[in-house]
Amino acid sequence: EPVNMVEVCQQVIARFHLINERTIRLHASPGAKDIEADRNKIEQLLIILVDNAQKYSSQVVDIFISGKDGEVTVAVKDQGIGIPQHEIKHVFERFYRVDNSRHRKTGGTGLGLPIAKSIVQEHDGLIWIESEEGEGTTVSVRLPVRPAPGPAKKSGEIRC
Ligand code: ATP
Repeated sequence: EPVNMVEVCQQVIARFHLINERTIRLHASPGAKDIEADRNKIEQLLIILVDNAQKYSSQVVDIFISGKDGEVTVAVKDQGIGIPQHEIKHVFERFYRVDNSRHRKTGGTGLGLPIAKSIVQEHDGLIWIESEEGEGTTVSVRLPVRPAPGPAKKSGEIRC
């Protein structure tokens, strides 16, 4: 189904506003086209990223949406505790949580980012993290407007 990323982000922001008073700013540049995607999964993906951004920071969270060349990019940026450089490659592993005492105050299973990654992969996209300890984290997702043609993906498949 055609999914408008700006609309999904607005909806996710509204949902977070129902449960807390944290500020989430949306910056959308014109040119981001609708993508052919599973709307519920894209919403789930954004919930995971915004939830993390809020959990690991106490400041405002910014969401940037941009589009070009048949792709839409969404970046969720926080000014929180950050992720140590050598841990970044591990946070997409199931149940992995950065071993940092400050994190232990926040609950979590370590499943959010692995789920986010599988949703992105199902949509032929990319997900990556830029982070600086003590400065903040930006998680970016780039999705094609049209997924590559090919055999239908098995949804619900579990990879080990
Ligand atoms: P849950 O998925 O149940 O919310 P979680 O947040 O621990 O738990 P993931 O979303 O998979 O799980 O994240 C894995 C780990 O990566 C987190 O435990 C945290 O250490 C780190 N992390 C993720 N996002 C951020 C962020 N925005 N800032 C700092 N650390 C982060």
